[in-house]
Amino acid sequence: MNPTISREDCAARDVADVLAPLREQFELPAGVVYLDGNSLGALPAATSARLQQVLAVEWGRGLIRSWNDAGWIGMAQRVGDKIARLVGAAPGELVAADSTSVNLYKVLAAAATIAREDGASRRVIVAERSNFPTDLYIAESVARQHGMDLELLEFDDIEARLRDDVAVLTVTQVHYRSGRMADMARLCARARAAGVLTVWDLAHSAGAVPVDLNGAGADFAVGCGYKYLNGGPGAPGFCWVHARHLARLRQPLTGWMGHAAPFAFEPGYRPAPGIERCLCGTPPILGLGALECGVDTVLAAEPLGGMQALRAKSVQLSQCFIELARQRLLPAGCTLQSPADPRQRGSQVSLGVAPDSGIDAYAAMQALIARGVVGDYRAGDGSAAGPHLLRFGFTPLYTRFVDVFDAVHALHEVLQGAEWRQPRFAARAAVT
Ligand SMILES: *Cc1c(COP(=O)(O)O)cnc(C)c1O
Repeated sequence: MNPTISREDCAARDVADVLAPLREQFELPAGVVYLDGNSLGALPAATSARLQQVLAVEWGRGLIRSWNDAGWIGMAQRVGDKIARLVGAAPGELVAADSTSVNLYKVLAAAATIAREDGASRRVIVAERSNFPTDLYIAESVARQHGMDLELLEFDDIEARLRDDVAVLTVTQVHYRSGRMADMARLCARARAAGVLTVWDLAHSAGAVPVDLNGAGADFAVGCGYKYLNGGPGAPGFCWVHARHLARLRQPLTGWMGHAAPFAFEPGYRPAPGIERCLCGTPPILGLGALECGVDTVLAAEPLGGMQALRAKSVQLSQCFIELARQRLLPAGCTLQSPADPRQRGSQVSLGVAPDSGIDAYAAMQALIARGVVGDYRAGDGSAAGPHLLRFGFTPLYTRFVDVFDAVHALHEVLQGAEWRQPRFAARAAVT
């Protein structure tokens, strides 16, 4: 079937797109359609010069003086304040630090402590069974260390489980496999009514969809710096705590940067009064410099409508992809594994390939990448019914409508032809 959306239609939409100039903020290789910004954001053009400045001037010449003179010591807070603008948090409520996993450990343990103080009978941590595994592994440790039980539920069963034995609910707002987006305000309201604290993972939300942590009444949140925030591989993540919890918040990684007076070198720990108490060790200045450049690429959309405008374009891009996929890819053996309703979807679309379809989904993705269209592959759950996933992230800062068209066209050709059968595409790399 010929697509009802032509490449010319897509090119016309790019011409009309007021956000299109934001793409110039990135150094994207020619000939590549990059649809994996949900795993690793693209390189901002400003990052190389910024890191060179940090290296040659701030470190090279300033040496240790740069902790004061170049503002290194306040960088976790300064970059945190910028991220706060993207997630509905106030200045001083959010710090950039550590990895998402470490931050989740800190706030989940702090939440568990608060919940137990408030009601000793609350001894369950609820999480979504299919969440990104690192979140579950961390929750396992926190539960064990606090003498609590970890209960893993299907997403649709979570609300009904929020009863008076539950201490904490931890959930990733946008699911890493399906792209399903939880209604944060609704779940926070249900949790609060049941006396349950919420810990949100915004790994696939920050910089991708509008988030309003304070407006939703969330309790705690963590997120990732290297996905839609374009902070670079291994960029620091972030953590946020609602102001109502801060005074009594005790997180377990009591390093000196979270101390009220790090340079007083006292033998006993006293937490900093503010969100700095969520810091642990010395901030990674190179990583924070790159992260700040990445966050700035998202903030550059503020004069053009900010996260709302980015979201509108993200929905249009993914709807365009789904419409083209319905016409060309579903008949070729794929299924739509993301919610069709954009209100229930983040900024990615996942296609499923059934294990018994005769198509090696991993090899098909490698063949697609060899054609210059970069998405990624996530293995199915091992069951005969669990499809392998081809994931495509739509980053409205740099993805064009023609990219969507070209990606569907290339994947259609890959699925129709035999090139994915070449042995070189079947060899599994360490990172998929
Ligand atoms: C990407 C992602 C992470 C990453 O954690 P790291 O500690 O940065 O490796 C964690 N949780 C979720 C849900 C993610 O999507």
